[in-house]
Amino acid sequence: MKIYINGEYFDKENAKISVFDHGFLYGNGVFEGLRAYNGKVFKLEEHIERLWDSAGSIALEIPITRKEMVDAINQTLKLNDIKEGYVRLIVTRGGGTLGLNPFECTNPQVIIIAAQLALYPKDLYEVGLDIVTASTMRMPPAALDPRIKSLNYLNSIMAKVEGLRAGCEEALLLNHKGEVAECTGDNIFILRNDELMTPPTDASILEGVTRNVVIAIAKKLGIVVKEIALTRHDIYVAQECFLTGTAAELIPVVSIDSRKIGTGKPGPVTKKLLEAFHLETQK
Ligand code: PMP
Repeated sequence: MKIYINGEYFDKENAKISVFDHGFLYGNGVFEGLRAYNGKVFKLEEHIERLWDSAGSIALEIPITRKEMVDAINQTLKLNDIKEGYVRLIVTRGGGTLGLNPFECTNPQVIIIAAQLALYPKDLYEVGLDIVTASTMRMPPAALDPRIKSLNYLNSIMAKVEGLRAGCEEALLLNHKGEVAECTGDNIFILRNDELMTPPTDASILEGVTRNVVIAIAKKLGIVVKEIALTRHDIYVAQECFLTGTAAELIPVVSIDSRKIGTGKPGPVTKKLLEAFHLETQK
């Protein structure tokens, strides 16, 4: 495995950053998770845009151009001979003092890791996920905007701990208003009254690239899509439910908080959207 750090490639054992890097000390940095299909990165521009938005929001200047980043991603995939895989893009604040001042950090690290996919087991797509609502709340935008994909994922990790301890691979986080936000690493959709519904971008969610692709696909298929505030009740009484994310793609949810959703099996609209999504990735 060859890992890109600031224009150079290192073997896994030698791909290292300083313990004084504020990415390590304070989670001060941003990242992206991308996916390659047939050797081509899916929705590359959208991920690049979100990375630059995240960096801009935390006043972090990415030390290379977008074009250089795109070239580096493609080069890393090529060098690792990965056509179907996952790419992790990281930009750290760089090494500084033990104080918080980010402007004393001098050398932001741009890191690109291309790897095989660590997916949910295939049968989960056929039987669907059981999830629980976590007591951990999604970060309110007034504290830190959840649309920033920062290197601090403790909020999601705390919810993941709750999910795993309840025997579930995923957990649902509510926002500070008690509305449905998203899962630990995926956005959530439901089908209700034959309409597709998902929380709006101001509901303390990460605005998922996959979420936006699925919304566009559904509209093209003639399905009504509503970006609307949801409560747990909406999920409890939904006909269908699924999660979206770069790694997961589109995965059915068949129960939440021990309540069966719909028939308790992945629904027809979920399956149709997953099929259409797969076609989209092959374009
Ligand atoms: N929400 C969170 C918290 C995430 O970390 C992610 C990405 N793993 C998503 C949603 C899905 O975003 P995307 O479709 O862009 O991968």
